[in-house]
Amino acid sequence: MEQTCIFCKIAAGEIPGDFLYRDDYVFVIRDIAPKAPVHLLVIPIRHVEALTDLAPDDRAMLGAMLHAGQDSARCEGIAEGGYRLVINQGPNARQEVPHLHMHVLGGARLHAQIW
Ligand code: AMP
Repeated sequence: MEQTCIFCKIAAGEIPGDFLYRDDYVFVIRDIAPKAPVHLLVIPIRHVEALTDLAPDDRAMLGAMLHAGQDSARCEGIAEGGYRLVINQGPNARQEVPHLHMHVLGGARLHAQIW
């Protein structure tokens, strides 16, 4: 756990999060400032700052992120209509929270461009 990391604090229960799911690798919460009718965050429990910090051993965690994303989308009723999975990687992508996370966005027809 990284003491100053907001997502580590949510994982540890030190600050509240609107949880939908948790397993050994990841948890899923609602984004506090949603940019779509459904906006979830899939977050690894272990503190990994970004994709560039991942090792081959992290393949199970990456698989868990994708699985949790598609399963949460199904539970939220947006799987059939479609949704977008986004990872903002680094400053040019405007990553705000330096703890790897994947956005799940859906519930409406999204804008074509994301840049
Ligand atoms: P990114 O720009 O990819 O780093 O996205 C970070 C996301 O985390 C933003 O969409 C924020 O709204 C969201 N966020 C920040 N703090 C919290 C929080 N305490 N609970 C839920 N979502 C949060």
